[in-house]
Amino acid sequence: MEKENNLDENEILLEVKNLKTSFFTYEGEVKALEDVSFVVNKGETLGLVGETGSGKSVTALSIMKLIPDPPGKILSGEINFNGENLIKKTEKEMQDIRGNQISMIFQDPMNSLNPVFDVGTQIKQVIKKHQRKSSRMAKKIALEMFKKVGLPDPEHIMGKYPHELSGGMQQRVMIATALSCHPQLLIADEPTTALDVTIQAQILKLIKNLRDEMSSSMLLITHDLGVVARVCDRVAVMYAGNIVEYAPVKKLFKNPSHPYTEGLLKAIPRRESRGEKLKIIKGKVPNLITPPSGCRFHPRCEYKMDVCSSTIPPRKYIDENHYVKCHLQF
Ligand code: SF4
Repeated sequence: MEKENNLDENEILLEVKNLKTSFFTYEGEVKALEDVSFVVNKGETLGLVGETGSGKSVTALSIMKLIPDPPGKILSGEINFNGENLIKKTEKEMQDIRGNQISMIFQDPMNSLNPVFDVGTQIKQVIKKHQRKSSRMAKKIALEMFKKVGLPDPEHIMGKYPHELSGGMQQRVMIATALSCHPQLLIADEPTTALDVTIQAQILKLIKNLRDEMSSSMLLITHDLGVVARVCDRVAVMYAGNIVEYAPVKKLFKNPSHPYTEGLLKAIPRRESRGEKLKIIKGKVPNLITPPSGCRFHPRCEYKMDVCSSTIPPRKYIDENHYVKCHLQF
């Protein structure tokens, strides 16, 4: 990957470079990530946006080194965190990094919390393991975190089992647990998708406020550009295992330069277009065992040209911190 323009290396917390991850299945090799490169600076929130199946969660699991091997494998690339390549770390070293320096909030809290332990025990275990605190201190920190995330009567909630809490409360417990060790990087994978609309807004606001308070960086994975607009500083648009456009949020909304980004923006419901039918991107995300040749978006693209199906579009910088991969830009 060429050097990111306009970036002070001292400010870079996470740098993903030319990451390639595949899954080797009976049907064949699923080329989940073809060429993923992006940077998360200290204190910044990067949105990773795209449809289901575009490779967002595989990117997050690759960063955490949680890709099940077999069938998955990181084939090439670098994941530099604080200047050290995580791909070269042992499992033991990664266990120290996970939860401590990098934490993750998953989409469905019910599947992430252990049903046989009360939530107090679960958060205390994380604090004791990563911060090496006594049981008394771990309980004190856990109560503070539960209070911070807005859980009513934290002492009472500590003794509850996950199934006794609502979806919103479970997600607050997950956020409290993920942030209890003050990670430098928080990866939030569709943190509001499993919640109803009113709770979604509250949880997003909570994550944003806590990130600011703790000066953490965040990689926010979402299929919703509306969420990106509210929470993120920069955005990487992902399609079929590639970052196809990368820009500061305001620039992307003002000047979307990839047809896929344009399609995602048109699909956002707006107040002024109430009553009109929402625009959709025709077709579906391709099968990544036999992905389309050239630009992987070409079967769905209304601007496609002859070159699109034969040649992978290279990265083109529109300005110093906005790039796009599309032949229309050449
Ligand atoms: Fe469309 Fe071609 Fe650009 Fe791909 S490279 S997005 S097919 S115009």
